[in-house]
Amino acid sequence: MFFSKKDHYFMEIALNEAVVAFHKDEVPIGAAITFENIVIAKTHNLTETLNNTIAHAEILAIVLANKYFNKKYYIKKCTLYVTLEPCIMCAGALFWSQIGKVVCGANNSSKRGFSYYGIKLHPKTEFVSGIMKNECKSLIQKFFLKKRIKHKKLNQ
Ligand SMILES: [Zn+2]
Repeated sequence: MFFSKKDHYFMEIALNEAVVAFHKDEVPIGAAITFENIVIAKTHNLTETLNNTIAHAEILAIVLANKYFNKKYYIKKCTLYVTLEPCIMCAGALFWSQIGKVVCGANNSSKRGFSYYGIKLHPKTEFVSGIMKNECKSLIQKFFLKKRIKHKKLNQ
């Protein structure tokens, strides 16, 4: 799959958000939404910080984009960059948003990704996956490794 320089540039922004999440001890998933090549929303997973089980990066990014336009219709012309394949909850939110395009980094190999369940995004939503997948995935792996080491130390 070929990805443009533009896609790399915006995925880099989403990945930077994931790094911010990593340093907050959140599962490091980042997202950015663009409209006409401008970033209008960038955020990351905040389930721990907000003590909110649904505060996934994609959900927060959709909320920010809707607020930015003050008309939810405009999100149809936007692109979401997200470092990990969305879960089924976020796929549902993306379906309802009818976002124009979703570009995702790493596949979700833990059966938490929407594609495992044969779920489709909105028919009008273009979906591509695999951009900077190694960088996106290694950050998540690093996070869970750190968690395991911490857990082990606590139980020694
Ligand atoms: Zn999600």
